[in-house]
Amino acid sequence: MPLVSPRNKQKPPLFISSDVFKRPAWGSNHPLAIPRQSAMLDLLEMLNWTGPGNSKVCQAAGRDTLVRFHKPAYVEAFWQADAKGKVSQADRQKYQLGTMENPIFPGLFERAATTVGGSILAAKLAGERRIVFHPSGGTHHGRPDRASGFCYFNDPVFAILTLLDQGCTRIAYVDVDAHHGDGVQDAFTDEPRVRCISVHEENRWPHSGTIDDHGNGLAYNFPTPRAVGDNAYGDLISTQVLPLIREFEPEAIVITFGADALDADPLSAMGLSNSCLLQTCVQLCDLAPAAVVLGGGGYNPWTTARLWAAFWGLISNQDVHINLPEPARKMLKSLACDLIDPEDMQPEWTTTLLDPLP
Ligand SMILES: [Zn+2]
Repeated sequence: MPLVSPRNKQKPPLFISSDVFKRPAWGSNHPLAIPRQSAMLDLLEMLNWTGPGNSKVCQAAGRDTLVRFHKPAYVEAFWQADAKGKVSQADRQKYQLGTMENPIFPGLFERAATTVGGSILAAKLAGERRIVFHPSGGTHHGRPDRASGFCYFNDPVFAILTLLDQGCTRIAYVDVDAHHGDGVQDAFTDEPRVRCISVHEENRWPHSGTIDDHGNGLAYNFPTPRAVGDNAYGDLISTQVLPLIREFEPEAIVITFGADALDADPLSAMGLSNSCLLQTCVQLCDLAPAAVVLGGGGYNPWTTARLWAAFWGLISNQDVHINLPEPARKMLKSLACDLIDPEDMQPEWTTTLLDPLP
């Protein structure tokens, strides 16, 4: 099936970003200490696919906004940890801050709050009947009172709250990250205006999201086997996920478009091609007049940057089948990732956006 851009939007798509996301982050020895955000943003600039005409800069959400979902004590502890650059043992245990999983590093609070600000802006702009892409969002494990799974705040929750503020009565949240979207599901477990659907790899952290996990009755989960592959994944999406959303008739859809379901991701094993995941996201965007597409996981900097750059190209009517120009190849070749062995590098990771078809 050829890749096509979504058809039912009244206004052209918008891209959300901030220079905050280009800064080095995560220190060392962390799966996210890879230049995936800067590589994607550089790639889009080198291709001239983003600029003032189609991009918006987001600002950090204020603490008064953050406490709408997060507990004030947690926001305060996080603020203090960021300011001091350290966390007490009591706060580490209580809030899961400053752990191996959720380290403290310079600029962290601003980065996390800007991620939330981006999702709020994306939801406001999507309400004008368009797709808004905020690839630095997608921190779907964040909890009201603690950090979890590399997520400090939960920006998808704020995108959904913003759409509810705008009067939406049917919002579909669809999470195609390789890990269950547990934080978002639990946030809206008693909210009939929000239908949460997550497709993820079975038997993976956080180990929730089994097929019979419906939250309080309104959520749907589709765990897939390891190495599910494009064909079985595509069948699952078209026969189960899309009908479930169509029947709900959403006014808006929020998608956590993690890149860790792709082949060669070091933290999961779903083995999808980027064409399959791109097609899925486009099909999801077609189901509602307003669409917010967020990033998420993705621990291979090459496959992650290519997926999100290709998605933006696709929805903004660029030619995603191109051979990359020399500066883009050079930039991609300069990336490094401790979790990927050099012999596992694929030639297309530095030359094209799309994976070769099998
Ligand atoms: Zn993930």
